[in-house]
Amino acid sequence: MIRIPDAEHDTLRLGERPLVVCDIDEVVLEFVTPFQGFLKANGHELRPRSFRLTGNIVNLEDGRETEAEDVGRLIEAFFSEQAEWQTPVEAAAESLANLSDDADIVFLTAMPPRHRSMRRELLSRHGFDYPMIATESPKGPAVRALHGDRTHPVVFLDDIFVNLHSVREHMPQTLLINLMANPTFRALAPDPGDGVSVATDWPHAESLIRAHIAA
Ligand SMILES: [Mg+2]
Repeated sequence: MIRIPDAEHDTLRLGERPLVVCDIDEVVLEFVTPFQGFLKANGHELRPRSFRLTGNIVNLEDGRETEAEDVGRLIEAFFSEQAEWQTPVEAAAESLANLSDDADIVFLTAMPPRHRSMRRELLSRHGFDYPMIATESPKGPAVRALHGDRTHPVVFLDDIFVNLHSVREHMPQTLLINLMANPTFRALAPDPGDGVSVATDWPHAESLIRAHIAA
């Protein structure tokens, strides 16, 4: 079994019950919408024409496309200031609180561990008191490490297809849910692929999860 390094996670104690592994950006915290505000405040603008950030950001000074390297730098700067920008996704706190009566909730965020303490504080401020793993490793092996060979139902929610497909590959029994808070990007998203359910919002995701763990 693959170990998750201690520096990357809170105390993880799973009960003998279903497991819901949940991404953070665009799933429980708004990312795209506040990032648009952050870009404007820093002389750039996101103009969504396709389902990606790089290529759709322009420098407001000269109207030129912002290079991938600079987009990476802007995302990093945004995460350093996330506590001032990111807000909860509508109904996420309520749905997770409902589900936590019957399942363990664990956050799995693709974020350098150096931002972990700020993110932990931000989540707790909004009532998301569930343990978090912050790692840049692929998500499939991380879910596998977490769930092991337990036979309880397992659910994974994420906005990024590569993460959903990674979990599909390593944990094929998982209920995979694609959830994306930003309506513009949700409308631009291609089909998420075989075996991935698309949830339009948290109440929808909650009903899909309830049906899965009751089955
Ligand atoms: Mg995300």
